[in-house]
Amino acid sequence: MSTSLLYHGFGVRGYRYVRTDYVEGEVWFSIEQPRDALRCPLCDSPEVTRRGEEWRTFRLPPIGSKRVTITLPVAKVECATCEVVRQVSIAFADPRRTYTKSFARYALELSRHMTIRDVAHHLGVGWDLIKEIQKADLQRRFKKVPLKKLRQLAIDEISIGKHGRYLTVVLDLKSGAVVFVGEGKGSQALEPFWKRLRASRAKIQAVAMDMSQAYIKAVSEWLPKAQIVFDHFHIIKLFNEKLSDLRRELYREATEKEHRAVLKGTRWLLLMNPENLDHKRDEPKRLQAALKLNAPLATAYYLKEDLRELWQQPDWRTARKYLTSWCARAMASGIRILQQFAGTLKKHAKGILNYFKFRISTGPLEGTNNKIRTMQRQAYGFRDHEFFKLKIYAIHETRFELVG
Ligand SMILES: [Zn+2]
Repeated sequence: MSTSLLYHGFGVRGYRYVRTDYVEGEVWFSIEQPRDALRCPLCDSPEVTRRGEEWRTFRLPPIGSKRVTITLPVAKVECATCEVVRQVSIAFADPRRTYTKSFARYALELSRHMTIRDVAHHLGVGWDLIKEIQKADLQRRFKKVPLKKLRQLAIDEISIGKHGRYLTVVLDLKSGAVVFVGEGKGSQALEPFWKRLRASRAKIQAVAMDMSQAYIKAVSEWLPKAQIVFDHFHIIKLFNEKLSDLRRELYREATEKEHRAVLKGTRWLLLMNPENLDHKRDEPKRLQAALKLNAPLATAYYLKEDLRELWQQPDWRTARKYLTSWCARAMASGIRILQQFAGTLKKHAKGILNYFKFRISTGPLEGTNNKIRTMQRQAYGFRDHEFFKLKIYAIHETRFELVG
């Protein structure tokens, strides 16, 4: 071992190597700081007088599977200018840390391929220490997410945990990165984001979101030049809710026992995309039986299938025609729930058809939300909520199975 290896191997520079001890399978390096290297930690002045010392130890990256610790007497100095007595700064470790910067870098490198638990186990330290290293790194990188270059965004809310807690997440559709995580849902959750976005002077072209009034109002207020694109998954989801309402209504009205029996248990069949029905479990047959027996249900079901086709249209003009004709058929169906839905679509037609100008959706956010849920199930969030939120900002860097 040498002073030079300490520098090149572990990034410990400006200290003198003293000796190596092997204690119970661990490696201990002793080092010292040359007298002429002492500086005031406040003003960096070399005009200091030594006033005692404190022995401190720091973890280094392991050598093979052996733990490595470095130990040294850290001098306290009195500065002639500042007139205070302080411990000198440690060049190779951050203040108040018990590990070196090289150890933190190594732990972060491992974190790209392993869970926190794996990294902690491999390095022979506690889970909390690895979490602390990750948190410091995330804080440094995501304290201020630059917003200036944002052009197209997706906004959605996600419920986390069992206590009805919500987060509102904003995604940069170009990079796939989360650019904001707001507490709660609705317009309040996004208030801090709008303020920062405005200050950044970003030229937002389009925002993908659902048809909620709160979002519509906020976007038109804060981003008057941005186009709203209503997300097609959300629209189909909304239609599915209406379809469920209709089925329930029909079930209530059905008087014959047999009729009821056919309707019962068809809720999921109606909501599923037909290509996903399971033939082995007779799902297509059961769906057909329910539709055959009930004309309004069949009408609504096939209108849903047709509505999904809207987003397959080649261009804006064709899509507009298609939407108009769909709404006309829904109005003509005589089914109140469908007529109301056609009204909603007409009211939001511009934002729906904007899809054909920007081709964006909240779909990419769906993947992010799934990762957030996985993380949440691994019970990060509730012990350290700030860490949980920071992990969300970094989620696009993480492979799905390793988010823990
Ligand atoms: Zn000083």
